[in-house]
This record gives sequence, C-alpha cells and structure tokens, in this order.
Amino acid sequence: MKVAILSESSADESAIRIILEALLGRETEGIASLPLRSRGWPSVIRVLPTVLKYLHYRTDAEALVVIVDSDDSTVHQSSHDEENGADMLCRLCQLRNVVSLETTRLRPVAGRSQIKVALGLAVPAIEAWYLCGSDPHVNEAAWARRLQQEQITYTRRTLKEDVYGTERPTIELEMKHATNAARQLINELSLLEQLFPNGFGSFARDVRDW
Ligand SMILES: [Zn+2]
Repeated sequence: MKVAILSESSADESAIRIILEALLGRETEGIASLPLRSRGWPSVIRVLPTVLKYLHYRTDAEALVVIVDSDDSTVHQSSHDEENGADMLCRLCQLRNVVSLETTRLRPVAGRSQIKVALGLAVPAIEAWYLCGSDPHVNEAAWARRLQQEQITYTRRTLKEDVYGTERPTIELEMKHATNAARQLINELSLLEQLFPNGFGSFARDVRDW
C-alpha cells in the first residue's frame, strides 16, 4: 500500500510510518517525490491542498497521513466530532476542514478511487507520544490542564530534552530517537490511545476505517 506522510520533520515521518504499519498490520511504501516538504504547522496547513491534488492526479498513492503538533493551540475534544462542533482554533478540526473541502474538488480519475486520509494531532508535540510507556504523567488530559494555567510536570522543552537529551537535536539524533521510540511504541498502542484519546485516537480510528 502506498501511503504519503506529511508531518513536521522527516524524523517524525519515519516514526509515524512505523506506527502506521503496526496499526495496519502490513508494510507500506512512501511517495518518493512528494513535491513539498513541510516544516511546522503553518507550512503543513498551507501545502495540504497542493499535496492532495498532487497525490490524486500525479501518483498512485492510496492514502495520506497528516500528523501535526498542537503546540499551545486548542486540544481536540470529542465534542468537536459532533455535527457543527468543529472548533477552528483546533488544528485537527482545521485539517479536517481543508481535507473535506479539497477532496470534494478533485475530479474523478479513471481507475483511481478517492484517496484515504488519516489525521492526527500530537498534544502538545510528537515527543509526548514517544514518552508513552516511560512517563505516565505525559498525556492529553495533563496538557489540557496546563492550557488552563495549571502546573504540570512538563513543558514542550522538557519533552524534547527527555526524548533527545537536548532541546535542539540534530536531524540524525532526532531520527535515531524517534524511530527507536516508535519501535517501542508499537507494543503500547492501546496505552497510547488511552493516554492520547483525541489526537492519537483520531489518527488510529481513521486508519482502522481505511
Ligand atoms: Zn478539534
């Protein structure tokens, strides 16, 4: 199965592919020539329409995965899943909005079915997922409390330090730790979904619906 992955760094994309393959129970192939590399949220949301068009018209990709960090933005809630419940301050809701708008604009192509999409929100950053199983204090509910100005045990900076040993890892270091963490995580997917029910849970549920 050919699946394109759009995220905030190439290390994250490698880790996400390991997790994706565990959810799917099979190997996937990437799209070698994705025209736009995305770095950071503003870039992901901006290139997403172009990526969807490119994949549909120019490749035989069957699916697209998009995972972004929430940083300090609104955390996705199950109430956003209700009809008219989408919150446009929530990045997952914004991604869903763009995907639903753009996919309805794609013209049918003979022999091509509609591209499958799975969207996830790492709260507050994908390093929080990487720490699942090693630090039980790191979870979506804790971060939601922090957004309400409560004191919690971690910040975005300490998450990076805990995963990489430094706040500013080189890409090589990031790749090594991210892929190692993902290989551990695939044994803890139900715990990951329990601790990150909205941001990771949405991604896992989308993949199961493919
Ligand atoms: Zn939302």
